[in-house]
Amino acid sequence: MSGCKHMNDGAPEEEHEVVVVGAGPAGSMTALSAADRGLDVLLIDRNPEIGVPVRCAEGVSQEIEKYIKIDSRCICSRIKGFITNGPEGTRLIVSASDDLAGYVLDRRVFDKALAHEAARAGAEVRVKSRACGILKSDGGGRVRGVYVNAGGEELRILADVVVAADGVESRVARWAGIDTRLRLEDIATCAQYLMCDIDVERDYCEQYFGWEIAPAGYAWVFPKGEHCANVGIGIGGNLSTDNHRAIDFLNAFVRDKFPDGKIIAEMFGAVPLSGPVYRTVTSGLLLVGDAARHVNPFSGGGIQEAIQGGQIAGEVIARAVREKDCTARRLREYERRWWKEFGRTLYAGLKVKNYMLGLPQPEFNRLFRSLNGELKLSEYTERALMKEIAKKNPKMMLSMLIRTLKG
Ligand SMILES: Cc1cc2nc3c(=O)[nH]c(=O)nc-3n(C[C@H](O)[C@H](O)[C@H](O)COP(=O)(O)OP(=O)(O)OC[C@H]3O[C@@H](n4cnc5c(N)ncnc54)[C@H](O)[C@@H]3O)c2cc1C
Repeated sequence: MSGCKHMNDGAPEEEHEVVVVGAGPAGSMTALSAADRGLDVLLIDRNPEIGVPVRCAEGVSQEIEKYIKIDSRCICSRIKGFITNGPEGTRLIVSASDDLAGYVLDRRVFDKALAHEAARAGAEVRVKSRACGILKSDGGGRVRGVYVNAGGEELRILADVVVAADGVESRVARWAGIDTRLRLEDIATCAQYLMCDIDVERDYCEQYFGWEIAPAGYAWVFPKGEHCANVGIGIGGNLSTDNHRAIDFLNAFVRDKFPDGKIIAEMFGAVPLSGPVYRTVTSGLLLVGDAARHVNPFSGGGIQEAIQGGQIAGEVIARAVREKDCTARRLREYERRWWKEFGRTLYAGLKVKNYMLGLPQPEFNRLFRSLNGELKLSEYTERALMKEIAKKNPKMMLSMLIRTLKG
């Protein structure tokens, strides 16, 4: 299956060492990392403007700065920590001991800045260019490039490596024969308003848990400057039914919390929560970011993983191209490295999510009661937070361990 009208073998042809499909954080970071190492890289996006539309609550931990410098133009709010609100009104306030836990970004600016960086490193960036099919070698054993529809005109773009950075709805990987289908329960369907004239904690991102608020998900309020915030809700994709969609839960939440707030923008989106369970390479092709399901299933965050994965991907591709060996076997170095760097954390996130979703309501509430209070983290990372929560809930850890061992 493809989105091309013709997949015309006579279409104009060009050749690059790498073609990256999708200029979100994962694609732009891969392009930047590969171009920095001297490769001839083409980065394409189907949209006319990179970073638009924004489908994100835009929160990142400060840990991301280990991998990328965040320009102040990309920052809407500096965050000291976050507050987890439990179903019975309990509150866990987690703060960074140095008062900087992370940022709420402006993805319109951030995504553009990253694509610009890739261009500065030598990558060619093209918008309004939609990958619509895949080119394979004779015999079909190896990916050789993509068909691209650029403003109605079809192109054949040959490359040593194609990077599928085309987000949650990724089709490129599927065209290449990698089954990235998600079960409904492994998707969070989300709705979000950008709201203004509301009273919010300016320095804290807030989450609200509870089956009445957001079944198999949570609501969030991430401050964006003064008196404004991204206010959203994600629910389990399998629980979305008529009148019980994410937007219905969001409207109820907003009526309750911010009845006088002004809605400036509205967006809908999906987050893959399966954990990193899919193959992420085949000969001549590699998956990064949401396309590779590199999202923490517990938090729903994927920007940092997109950046980390993109950086590793660029390095591995550069070496593979130099060695003239872009087989799956060679590209598997990427899989080994992302697994070591962040795959295990994503897997732990999946376990925590599954554990929490499996709890009967009274136990779910008890868990949040045990988390009531304040916590200061010297190292503000997801891993450090999970460790602290586990320390407060040794029983939870034990029962999770037993379930994991039982399979
Ligand atoms: C409601 C919501 C809230 C979220 N909140 C957070 C958060 O607070 N913090 C966080 O870390 N993460 C959050 N995420 C997740 C985060 O947005 C993603 O993990 C991140 O954007 C992944 O980056 P990516 O580059 O893989 O994909 P994307 O950012 O989705 O980029 C994919 C790009 O590919 C392009 N594309 C797709 N198909 C084609 C094609 N055929 N040809 C050419 N181009 C194509 C698209 O136009 C797009 O630009 C949220 C997600 C949602 C939906």
